[in-house]
Amino acid sequence: MCCFVPDGDSIHRSGAVLRTALVGRPLRRFDAPRLFGPPPTIGRLIEKVTSHGKHLEVAWDDGIILHTHMRISGSWQLYRVGEKWRKSTEHMRVAIEVPGWVAVCFDAPIVETYREYDQLRHPGFGRLAPDLCRATDDELFECVRRVYEYDDPTCPISEVLLDQHVARGVGNVYRSEILWACELSPLTPVGELSFGDCRQVINAAARMLRANQERAYRVTAAEIPGGLAVYGRNGTRCARCGDTVLVKRIGQFERLLYFCPGCQPRHQQRGLQNDLVGEPEMDSHPAAAIFNADLPWRRDSVTG
Ligand SMILES: [Zn+2]
Repeated sequence: MCCFVPDGDSIHRSGAVLRTALVGRPLRRFDAPRLFGPPPTIGRLIEKVTSHGKHLEVAWDDGIILHTHMRISGSWQLYRVGEKWRKSTEHMRVAIEVPGWVAVCFDAPIVETYREYDQLRHPGFGRLAPDLCRATDDELFECVRRVYEYDDPTCPISEVLLDQHVARGVGNVYRSEILWACELSPLTPVGELSFGDCRQVINAAARMLRANQERAYRVTAAEIPGGLAVYGRNGTRCARCGDTVLVKRIGQFERLLYFCPGCQPRHQQRGLQNDLVGEPEMDSHPAAAIFNADLPWRRDSVTG
């Protein structure tokens, strides 16, 4: 099968076709000879494919986003692995291979990647926040202050954690895990947090990021089989309270957020977060399912 994407009008259809083939599957190969930006990591799952105008973006679960712009000449085409391409490899600008499929972008003039949190610009803070993996104690304190004094107090804490002007390093998996560890509802407006809450969030984030710097698989809750408390665990029992873990699409980029309504309700009691409870979204995201299936302990449990 080959899917042509010859012009801008087709880009939405192209996005839908690529989404079906790529989302939820792990990256096997990534070629982009003229790439500007960090490449995605082999093995990471594709979480999202979006198109708008002549732009097409692919997002991985480690927070890397690929942006391509077609202008007049560019196109995305989808092939079965091993199938002959309709254009010469000289015209290839990106090739994304997942099990069964290769998505190829030809002749796009703009091919770049960036980290998800770079997309969020916070005009209230002039300079970038410290990197949580390397921050000194003083710099961690500075991150706490930036959370506490965030100039949009209605912004949910789950979004604030992705703002690189608050603290750098937190991606989509970590924010779910951090908020579970802190027993905070992900939709808690940041303005409702005490200074102590903010300190707890930043300390948990720094601890998790540092503990995982050398690991192939993220472990944020070592006492829980699989090492993750809520990410990818929707529909299963919370290890802390036994309630059912939920998943929601939340925020500007509609990234998946996992949480436990039983033990992360602390700021919901004021009636602000009712939409989190009572409207469970139980459908399992394929990316999360495969992410879990790829965890070594799951493989071990299958093979005995
Ligand atoms: Zn719980």
